[in-house]
Amino acid sequence: MEKPEIWLSFAPELHLFVAAARRAGRSAVRTDGVSTLGHVVESLGVPLTEAGTLLVGGRQVPVSHVPADGEEVTVLAVRRPQPLPGPARFLLDVHLGTLARRLRLLGVDAAYESVDIGDAALATRSAAEQRVMLSRDRGLLHRRELWAGAYVYSHRPPEQLRDVLSRFAPPLAPWTRCTACNGTLREAAKESVHEQLQDGTERAYDAFAQCTDCRQVYWRGAHHASLNAIVEESVREFGSPGPAEVLP
Ligand SMILES: [Zn+2]
Repeated sequence: MEKPEIWLSFAPELHLFVAAARRAGRSAVRTDGVSTLGHVVESLGVPLTEAGTLLVGGRQVPVSHVPADGEEVTVLAVRRPQPLPGPARFLLDVHLGTLARRLRLLGVDAAYESVDIGDAALATRSAAEQRVMLSRDRGLLHRRELWAGAYVYSHRPPEQLRDVLSRFAPPLAPWTRCTACNGTLREAAKESVHEQLQDGTERAYDAFAQCTDCRQVYWRGAHHASLNAIVEESVREFGSPGPAEVLP
């Protein structure tokens, strides 16, 4: 029996994943007649985390659709903001430490492994804790165990942050989370944290917050202006102002 030939075209956002010959308009693919459309799309390089609606002849089909000979398939990009089956929590791979700290600065729950625990362990943790796996590693995003995943399109942290905020629209709550460990902050009286402060800091500041997990103490210190710029820009563009800031 002749194997089915189908025609595929990809949304521009997906062009970086597919071979150059598939970027301009539609191109032909021979399938084995039993594979699902999801499998065909993945086999051409597009992680299913990045594929949005699949259209056959203009009508939406599920990833389980088995394409028949002559079908015209259009693969759209994911819709932004993308709905999630649960709260917007994230897990970042070893290469995305700066992005993890910036998400935490905005109060977004961003777990991050500073050592490489391997794709299998990351995928397992994504599933166990219901976290969206953020990565620039396409192989990792192909893993079936992931609760949800997203390719991070840029290698530059400012663009990575805008990418994640525009894609998932997580609620923002700046200055409520520890940038070092992802724990939550609570207000701290100066007396209770003074042992962790240097003399100059203790004299110059009155408002403190402390991480409930790692005990790190925060105040409006030397780096605050640049961090504040990140917060203000993000809230202006993507925020709902969240709950009250812990660090006033
Ligand atoms: Zn902490």
